[in-house]
Amino acid sequence: MGRLFAIEIIYRGIYQKTLAKNITRAIVLAAHKDGKPGISFGRYGDSPERNGIPAKAFAIVATDDVTLEEGMAKYEPKEVDVTIAVDDTLCKGVESWAWYGLQPVNRLLKPGGTLIITSRQTPDKLIAMSHRKETPYNLSILKGTPSFSGLWVYKDDHTDVRIMGALAKALPDLFSLKSVQAAILDETHDKVKTESAARAYERFSTVAVQPNQGNPEVPFKFDLPKWHEMGEGIAIPAIPTGHGMEDPASHAKGGFQPGRNHTFKKFTTRSMRPVVNFDTCIKCTLCWLQCPDTCFDVTPEGLYDANMEACCGCGVCEAVCPVKDCITMVNETEFTDNSSQWEAWRKDKTAYKAWLEAKIKTKEERSHGFRYLGQYEEQVGEMLEIARKG
Ligand code: SF4
Ligand code: SF4
Repeated sequence: MGRLFAIEIIYRGIYQKTLAKNITRAIVLAAHKDGKPGISFGRYGDSPERNGIPAKAFAIVATDDVTLEEGMAKYEPKEVDVTIAVDDTLCKGVESWAWYGLQPVNRLLKPGGTLIITSRQTPDKLIAMSHRKETPYNLSILKGTPSFSGLWVYKDDHTDVRIMGALAKALPDLFSLKSVQAAILDETHDKVKTESAARAYERFSTVAVQPNQGNPEVPFKFDLPKWHEMGEGIAIPAIPTGHGMEDPASHAKGGFQPGRNHTFKKFTTRSMRPVVNFDTCIKCTLCWLQCPDTCFDVTPEGLYDANMEACCGCGVCEAVCPVKDCITMVNETEFTDNSSQWEAWRKDKTAYKAWLEAKIKTKEERSHGFRYLGQYEEQVGEMLEIARKG
């Protein structure tokens, strides 16, 4: 039997759909140039995609047709040689539309496999965000802002071809850089893209990650009913109505925390989160009313606390808040937990203010689309500069 190669792309639904498709397709085309058959496909269970909800696509390549057929009989690979995560906040875990619970970003990696991440963060920060794995693996960072676009616009910032260059280095038995460049030229007739792939290949470097490194938390999961436990009818439990809250400083009771779906928490959909300045909030209720996911808990004194287990990071609350800088969306990589901002503020307002100011200062452009005329050209220009200089 020949050799089988499996590569998965973890991406954010809709925002990175075209990017993921371009990468998996390019893998198969480059493998063909190397004389290897391959196939690419999106995961059925992720469809229809939702904005930002983590999704997966795969590329399977083999040294011969029979091996490919045998590999495809499994449909979805149980382990992969390389995982490519095209957004660094996916390191916090992946809660897909297609399954129950949270899965570590490195879960499918074979021992010694490589995780390639597009990021501006350091390896230490990304390792700390990723769940621990029992076997060692390699981490490689493709330097750059994660590439987001939309359903109708694709941000052609060379992320796809740069990943192809990195992949040729990470898995040299899969295909050569020459094959990658030939496939890019066939598809795009753009020599600059072949140069971007070559620079990613040259600069590719990895750090080894050991089993004692990373986030020690056990990801939440749910047991599905066994076939012999299933009843003749089906009852879908309603979401409970909710309950009041308690002030951690004064112990005053009041407010309201709505009941929420505990089997689909949504927070791994988030690549940004709102940071609320409770000192300047005028209690206008707009964030609470407009949040599409009912994420705000109403506190006993009538403030609005965005619940981080439920927030999917859409940014609507920042857009509707009438007070300048009262809600600010901040890159999700800046946070290590989902604890309540309001509780932190109630316990120590001075410390909270310092925390909030530090978080807002680190705010980095992270839009899911293009908010003003010319932003597309600005963002693409910046990424091409990174691709050129590294
Ligand atoms: S970003 Fe704001 S509006 Fe959007 S889900 Fe989170 S709390 Fe709700
Ligand atoms: S929209 Fe802003 S000012 Fe209004 S309640 Fe929400 S945080 Fe406070």
